Amino acid sequence: MGAKQKAKKTFKEWQAAADALEINGQAFIDGQYQPAKSGKTFYCLSPVDGRLLGKVAACDEADANLAVASARAAFNSGVWSRQAPASRKQVIMRFAYLLNANAEELALLETLDMGKPISDSLRVDIPAAARALRWSGEAVDKIYDELAPVPHDQIGMITREPVGVVAAIVPWNFPLLMACWKLGPALAAGNSVVLKPSEKSPLTAIRIAQLAVEAGIPPGVLNVVPGYGHEIGSALALHMDVDTLVFTGSTRTAKQLMIYAGQSNMKRVWLEAGGKSPNIVFADAPDLKKAAKAAASAIAFNQGEVCTAGSRLLVESSIKDQFVELVIEALKKWKPGHPLDPATRVGAIVDQTQLKQVLEYIEAGKQAGAALRLGGNRIESENGGYYIEPTLFDGVSNAMKIAQEEIFGPVLSVIAFSDMEEAIAIANDSTYGLAAAVWTSDLSRAHKMAKALRTGMVWINQYDGGDMTAPFGGYKQSGNGRDKSLHAFEKYTEVKATWIALD
Ligand code: NAD
Repeated sequence: MGAKQKAKKTFKEWQAAADALEINGQAFIDGQYQPAKSGKTFYCLSPVDGRLLGKVAACDEADANLAVASARAAFNSGVWSRQAPASRKQVIMRFAYLLNANAEELALLETLDMGKPISDSLRVDIPAAARALRWSGEAVDKIYDELAPVPHDQIGMITREPVGVVAAIVPWNFPLLMACWKLGPALAAGNSVVLKPSEKSPLTAIRIAQLAVEAGIPPGVLNVVPGYGHEIGSALALHMDVDTLVFTGSTRTAKQLMIYAGQSNMKRVWLEAGGKSPNIVFADAPDLKKAAKAAASAIAFNQGEVCTAGSRLLVESSIKDQFVELVIEALKKWKPGHPLDPATRVGAIVDQTQLKQVLEYIEAGKQAGAALRLGGNRIESENGGYYIEPTLFDGVSNAMKIAQEEIFGPVLSVIAFSDMEEAIAIANDSTYGLAAAVWTSDLSRAHKMAKALRTGMVWINQYDGGDMTAPFGGYKQSGNGRDKSLHAFEKYTEVKATWIALD
């Protein structure tokens, strides 16, 4: 079946497929599915309706040791690391193909595990994850090394080599996609990987280990160790034989991982962390209705559980009231619904802890005196799931907690500004620096803004642009290094200088 036919499954058919789904919760180490060494498991519950999806291996230090040893042995053997890039490329392309070929099952696992709408899992997450693998695979046999401009009797070679064993710790908001942003370049460059999915969304990572083997990735080259972050995650971060740690998740955990690296073997640490992105609308925006629709999508898509969510909406005072009305109108179309219904655009919040956190922020907004103009409530609690209405606060000051801290839910703060200088000052007054958007018809102002914004990504007259060709990552406490594009390979390779005397 083609992807288009698959999208046509009805709500009932998805529910039946969910009931029939077989779920594997085991770790995958050295080419084999296996329980955690301790035999411990944890319950994997669905935020869709609270159902028990299965028991998942609770890996800890003992499993980290096994997985890292297997990854190291595979790396040293050269079975993958010394294959020609063109040959690794073929395997990674097959891996990508298998993700797409199993898209329905993977989409269902993703939706049941973390609550996002099935239409998003099927049309956004899984194809984008496959694209990330394919792009990195396709790129790797087109990257050349360098020769240094040295004297006639010397040769100076500057080469890039795989780092060795990579531990990848990923979050729950785009579980498979974040994993594949790491796996693509890490595997393409010839490394062995130990992947640790979030305890809130481990299922697709576990499933794709088998697809990797089917694609031809040798045992030990990709290991998957589910479990709680503070046990298995810290064991990997403190491990003396992990060369590089790549991470996507919260800034709090990111800082802890830097400490772990310093306490252990000074492994390289690359961090994609939180955000509080400003979406800045000037009165001369080319199309205010389009900008309002984008502002709504920027906070409601994926339940607002997006690192680049446009959570601070900065609007020029002269159009602020009119623009807020347009955004409210657009946001009303983002009504939470059952994630297995193909018509649903907003699904469930990932778990009870996250739900509570979002509701506490909404309360903090009210307490601080911001004007609640839309939403603010938990809904549909009777079915056992975790749903929150898209919420809009007007009259927010940038000093308020709801404007400073990452909420990671569908809560939008509207902040007025009077001119470009003030917009820049407010936008940059954040510990984060992931992304920003600017809406204006003035070309020179667009460029001035793009230069002044202290963020890793800037979008002009759109929100959330980009594809695999553009680097993704942030300034300040949003992290270091970049995922996607050729820049991602910098994380997964060491640079070597070799000097040869010809005399
Ligand atoms: P989190 O930091 O709680 O967890 C991320 C991962 O780290 C999980 O696998 C978790 O188990 C693990 N972990 C937690 N504590 C750990 C510890 N002490 N040692 C080792 N590992 C540990 O983040 P989250 O709630 O899963 O994800 C949401 C966050 O991710 C948000 O802040 C969001 O902005 C960020 N994010 C960033 C990007 C980006 O590219 N910049 C993309 C997506 C999400």
